[in-house]
Amino acid sequence: MNHLIPSQELENKITALFIKAGSAPSEAQQVAANLIMANLSGHDSHGVGMAPRYVDAILEGNLSPNTGVAVKVDTGMLLGLDGQHGFGQVVGVQAMEMAFERVAQHGACIMSLSSAHHLGRIGHLAEMAVARGWVSLHFVSVFSRPVVAPFGGGDGRFGTNPCCIGIPLGFGANAQEPFVLDFATSRVAQGKMRVAHNEGRQVKPGTLIDEHGHPTNDPGVVVVPQSNGRMGALMPFGEHKGFGLAVACELLGGALSGGGTWHKDPDGRRAVLNSMLVIVIDPARLGTQMSFAQESLAFVEWLRQSPDAPGSDGVVLAGEPERAARKDRLQNGITVDHATWQEIEGAAQKLGITL
Ligand code: NAD
Repeated sequence: MNHLIPSQELENKITALFIKAGSAPSEAQQVAANLIMANLSGHDSHGVGMAPRYVDAILEGNLSPNTGVAVKVDTGMLLGLDGQHGFGQVVGVQAMEMAFERVAQHGACIMSLSSAHHLGRIGHLAEMAVARGWVSLHFVSVFSRPVVAPFGGGDGRFGTNPCCIGIPLGFGANAQEPFVLDFATSRVAQGKMRVAHNEGRQVKPGTLIDEHGHPTNDPGVVVVPQSNGRMGALMPFGEHKGFGLAVACELLGGALSGGGTWHKDPDGRRAVLNSMLVIVIDPARLGTQMSFAQESLAFVEWLRQSPDAPGSDGVVLAGEPERAARKDRLQNGITVDHATWQEIEGAAQKLGITL
């Protein structure tokens, strides 16, 4: 049975869980609100279903509650930060706010953040920048277990390495809702395989290979160890192009930030660490604010005028599906599938509470 829960009630329960796990109340609330925002945005893979994993990571010593970023390098426009295994929902926001101070001063900032615990939905961070009228680019590596196969390869070698680009559309009285492109470079996010597995659903052909490197539609191959003790793998999106972007995320997000890259066999660890390279630009300081706004609006209007392809719902711009989901779910509540809810209750029991 699925559970339909008003978002505020769900946030209160998840906050209580993280307080019991060791977070200060403000941190617990910030992490819970971020997870709820992912659910509201339609990305259940990065919503409250992550909470039991975070609790395990705390209990296993791989996630440090109440930890902020450490500054490794600060030359003004260049900011090198270490997330110190703190909650990604906290150190990610802190790192963005530090980058924003630099953008206000210099017009742009290149910021790296290494070794944050799971940053969750990266779009959340880009939305913070576009709300200020700024462009934000994010290249992120995932240090957890190698769940994505290289294009042409037969087993998992790296993570779902998300890429995100936030662009404000217009400004002032002519501002429209922003473009927020935010996706895993795997064909689908790993968390969506967990949700599909929990719901007993098969996934689209071309998404997965099994533990022997053969195509399969069973999401369980990347959720639970298979007969030979190994796991299957997700495929990158867009064949060699998506694979190339995934490698760029590992090199920029992982290697350039100092967070490291994945180059070893799975070791059974359950923590998820993210490292990220971020570039934030103030269009006003680049001297193109007026033309940037005009050209952006003209272009998206041009796209919207394209006739609907047969059988399609027409042209959609990145960011629109998330905003539509938010409107709906804020009003009607968030559905949490039974298996996910049981995992959340299991995490609460480990901590000696009931939700
Ligand atoms: P997805 O495949 O649902 O793609 C989402 C993106 O595509 C959004 O920008 C959305 O607005 C856009 N979009 C959706 N439908 C569209 C359409 N019809 N036309 C045009 N644009 C459309 O996302 P995903 O790959 O499953 O990723 C989901 C989330 O997982 C993201 O928020 C990502 O940041 C997050 N993620 C995080 C990590 C991590 O380690 N922290 C790893 C992987 C993914």
